[in-house]
Amino acid sequence: MYRKGLLELLRQRPMSLRDIAELMQMPIRDVASDVEHLRKSLKRSDFRLVIEPATCQKCRFTFHKNKTTKPGKCPRCHATWIKEPVLRVTHRHGKST
Ligand SMILES: [Zn+2]
Repeated sequence: MYRKGLLELLRQRPMSLRDIAELMQMPIRDVASDVEHLRKSLKRSDFRLVIEPATCQKCRFTFHKNKTTKPGKCPRCHATWIKEPVLRVTHRHGKST
């Protein structure tokens, strides 16, 4: 039930894990695991989870795109000024079976 809510939420607007955690009043750790379940379940559906990867605000280093949690610091310039990954759900076009 909650995961369906999460799907609807991310279809309406892109959000970071922290945004979701604040909205749902849940620990980020729990949100991260729910997002992971959602991503797996969406593989068999018409939707997909898109992750806009975290980026370093200082040197523009882009983190791994499958990571949903905010990295501690940049491996390149060691700055901690990191833009969080943003998640959204989009409809998969032209792949209906
Ligand atoms: Zn950097």
